[in-house]
Amino acid sequence: MTSERPDEKTSPSEASRPPSNSITKESLKLLRETALKLYEAGYNIVIVDCDKKPLTSWSSEKRVSEKDLKKLLKDPRTCGLAIIGGPVNPFDIDKNGNPLDITYLMLIDVDDPRLLDKTFLLKNLVEKSVSYRTGPRCPKCFNKHIDVIEPGKRFRCPLCNIEFNIDESPRGVGILVSVDKTLLEKYRLKGSLRQGSVELLINNYQLIPPSKHKTGISYEWINEINIEQPNHGIYSLSDIELETLLKEIGYLRDKEIVEEKIERKETSEKTIEKKIEKIEKPR
Ligand SMILES: [Zn+2]
Repeated sequence: MTSERPDEKTSPSEASRPPSNSITKESLKLLRETALKLYEAGYNIVIVDCDKKPLTSWSSEKRVSEKDLKKLLKDPRTCGLAIIGGPVNPFDIDKNGNPLDITYLMLIDVDDPRLLDKTFLLKNLVEKSVSYRTGPRCPKCFNKHIDVIEPGKRFRCPLCNIEFNIDESPRGVGILVSVDKTLLEKYRLKGSLRQGSVELLINNYQLIPPSKHKTGISYEWINEINIEQPNHGIYSLSDIELETLLKEIGYLRDKEIVEEKIERKETSEKTIEKKIEKIEKPR
């Protein structure tokens, strides 16, 4: 059976889909446990519905209270869990729990996994840092706006007109890294940066496992956050590595064009802000 309503690929927020279709009791339990564990460890997290829309106001500067988080986790709309990048994270507090504003958490969202075949550092980060699989893509054209035939299992690409199973589907990839604030300032990285099929999220959030994707699949860890490990397994980028990463994704080409890029970025600040708004809204 093919999807009868391919038009709905761009409007995933159809109200007709009950949350119970997307998330089972077991996965909800795991999601709640993960959320509480990460909160306790010091992460700035946000609970989202099945359309990735936050259930509460959030900030990259301040965490929700534990009481509010626990209340949110009982909300029937709960479908996903996201980490907010930025200065509020487990690695940036003094002995008394006060933020130091030195280390920032950065989420890297690789929309098109084919990029990993062309990059060395980015590909390496998937292996040596905390990383996970995101939504499914068409195996032929890598389009992510696919129709769901059977939630979590079988899909159809409206562009190629082919059907495929989840095990045939390439997945997007998310990576967590930490970066010193001084380096973000050096490369004038503030807010979020989209470059081609990669997005660097510094003051925005991204869904992590075991969230449910709107296609019915679950986000899956490649390398899980491990609270027992130093830095929880999250790789800390050095100056040269951040520079290499920015070159790999095409944001920086040579040192000498840094200034030009910065100017262009600043003039497009408003565009970026709009994009952030878009991300916060249902897609
Ligand atoms: Zn396709």
